[in-house]
Amino acid sequence: MPIQSINPFNNEIIKNIEELSPELVTVEISIADETFQSWRKTTFAHRADLLHRVANLMRDKKDQLSKLITLEMGKLIAQSYAEISLSADIIDYYAKNGEAFLADEKINTKFGEAYIKNTPIGVLLGVEPWNFPFYQVARFAAPNIMAGNVVLVKHASNVPLCASAIHDLFVEAGGPRGLYTNLYVSGSRVEEIVADPRIKGVALTGSEKAGASIAAAAGKYLKKSVLELGGSDAFIVLEDADIDQAVEWAVVGRMNNTGQCCVAAKRIIVVEPVADEFLAKFKTRLTGLKVGDPMDSETQLGPLSSEGAVINLIEQVQRSVRAGASVLLGGKLIDRKGAFIEATILGDIKPGMAAYHEELFGPVAAFYRVKNEQEAIDLANDSPYGLGGSIFTSNIERGKHIAEQIDTGMVFINHPTWTQPDLPFGGTKGSGYGRELSSLGIQEFVNKKLIRISELTDPF
Ligand code: NAP
Repeated sequence: MPIQSINPFNNEIIKNIEELSPELVTVEISIADETFQSWRKTTFAHRADLLHRVANLMRDKKDQLSKLITLEMGKLIAQSYAEISLSADIIDYYAKNGEAFLADEKINTKFGEAYIKNTPIGVLLGVEPWNFPFYQVARFAAPNIMAGNVVLVKHASNVPLCASAIHDLFVEAGGPRGLYTNLYVSGSRVEEIVADPRIKGVALTGSEKAGASIAAAAGKYLKKSVLELGGSDAFIVLEDADIDQAVEWAVVGRMNNTGQCCVAAKRIIVVEPVADEFLAKFKTRLTGLKVGDPMDSETQLGPLSSEGAVINLIEQVQRSVRAGASVLLGGKLIDRKGAFIEATILGDIKPGMAAYHEELFGPVAAFYRVKNEQEAIDLANDSPYGLGGSIFTSNIERGKHIAEQIDTGMVFINHPTWTQPDLPFGGTKGSGYGRELSSLGIQEFVNKKLIRISELTDPF
């Protein structure tokens, strides 16, 4: 994939960027490794100061950075502002709490003294997606830098200006060269980087295809890996739910980021007694969305991230329809310049259809009616993915009981799957492994070193 910034609103090329040669990648890894040797010795307070400065700069430049997100990948401008604000909060969160999360852990052993010391492991590679170009990087870079590691970031090839803007924040905040390095390379070059012995771990947020490839490379070279992959979250609505509220959240859950969220409410599962009412109201809400320029704060449905993305999505819709799915709303490209597709609802979806098994990465909802709660749970679990999910009910105990039966990494009751700095984020099954955010996210790339002060006199 060429490294190229293209505005998906009008398909105009903003900038072409040359890839780093293998030789220059090696130079960057050497610098990062050298920086690690000193960064690992810095105090938590020193690291926290730097991260707070990065977060403050991000907030100071929020207009410029938000517009960059919208320009390069088409996010609605208000959502770009929200992304910058969340990213700064994540960075501050680790600056504030990182030391406590990594404090020595005393072990109550039979005799003598033992504890776990969390120590950094070295240079890490983060391979990041375009859909949240600041947030995804923040949740990888902040905890790992706070832990004493240094990071190389290979960002998605269609957001190179966001990639360099993040790097510049670290430079302006006073980060040493090699602490945060932006690598302009394409996805096909990731294995060559993972192979370098100075790389000690790799984290990917992206598709299963990229995940399988990175997991294979990490296995081959024995590197620790964390994979945050795709999802097809169930959004279950029960007969005792507040339907109007559930519809509003379904619109947010499915349409946020123009449907391009790993945790979007991609499968709307409604029990029979309230299915007609829910569907009618959901259709009305999606029909009324104002299509237009994502830079315009009045716009409610912007473009997808690229022409390729919209072609791929329409092909999945058409394959599903050819296999018998019905189009309950939309289903077509919007006749205008840019990567636009109508807000779409598909129904009559059966196993074997693309819409049943594949991730629909855009404003296309798969709508299912089920007889009862058990059918809803079974359908939710009949997915190769296991990222998030949500349940709408007025009975919280019932919601918790169902949540415990859903095979995913996250379940929300009366809210679409969401994210905040202090909640762990990650999945199971085809959605990957490991966790980012919260106290768990900072534990992934540290050496949990046992230190034992023995009082043993006789080893046997
Ligand atoms: P993608 O094509 O997998 O790209 C993600 C990153 O992986 C990019 O930097 C890409 O580089 C790189 N890449 C692509 N192929 C690779 C390979 N064979 N080996 C190594 N790296 C490779 O995914 P996307 O389309 O950008 O992002 C959307 C996907 O990410 C969706 O499936 C979404 O659900 C998932 N996602 C998951 C989470 C989560 O937390 N679980 C969050 C957000 C998104 P190039 O750009 O150079 O190809």
